Amino acid sequence: MRDWVDRHLDWLGGLLLPPRCVLCGSSGQAPCLDLCAGCAASFAAADEPVLAGPDPLRRTCAPFAYAPPLDHLVHALKYRGQLATARVLGTLLAGWLAGRGLPHEVDVIVPVPLHPDRHAERGFNQSAELAHQLGRSLHLSVAESLAIRRRATPPQVGLHLDERRRNLAGAFGAGPVADLRVAIVDDVTTTGATLRELACVLLQAGACTVDAWCIARTDRGRIHSSARREPSPSAGWMR
Ligand SMILES: [Zn+2]
Repeated sequence: MRDWVDRHLDWLGGLLLPPRCVLCGSSGQAPCLDLCAGCAASFAAADEPVLAGPDPLRRTCAPFAYAPPLDHLVHALKYRGQLATARVLGTLLAGWLAGRGLPHEVDVIVPVPLHPDRHAERGFNQSAELAHQLGRSLHLSVAESLAIRRRATPPQVGLHLDERRRNLAGAFGAGPVADLRVAIVDDVTTTGATLRELACVLLQAGACTVDAWCIARTDRGRIHSSARREPSPSAGWMR
């Protein structure tokens, strides 16, 4: 019944407001994806879209490389607050995950939390926006308050993996999550340090497995060059 309602709401939405590509402005894809087929086809695939681990994660999924033009969409969401892009990115990621049967192995979606100060300043959490679109598309529940950020962490950009780990130690807390299979959602992963730290906390809180679902992966060998594409890592970058 819910599928039927969702399909018809999408159909009605497409009639009232035809989808329009957020990148080039041409017609989007029916029923309601605001991205044209040409722009979608221009997204580069990640070298390893599904990784086993890294420990303690069961697997990490990130279908796309963090490169133009997809990085423009991530920036539009994260730094310009264009929340419509979360629908596009979340819908793409949901379709990719569903095509591989991966959502069947997950009970609940948990977005990587922002520190409350950062959330208040930005007004939204881009990971939560993605998570809610995934929840709608995949009919999975989203537990936004299950994980919390206890302290704001300094910029990760430009840090090596061991420095990132030290940076994140004790940064997260989690409520009880007994016997649930969790998928953590983040926009972009680089070294996976954030995902691994949060996975540790969720497993300590009782989760049976933790996967990570991200839109894109940066090229690990080009952490410093990709950092230059990020807005300047001012104090406002802390999350
Ligand atoms: Zn387009």
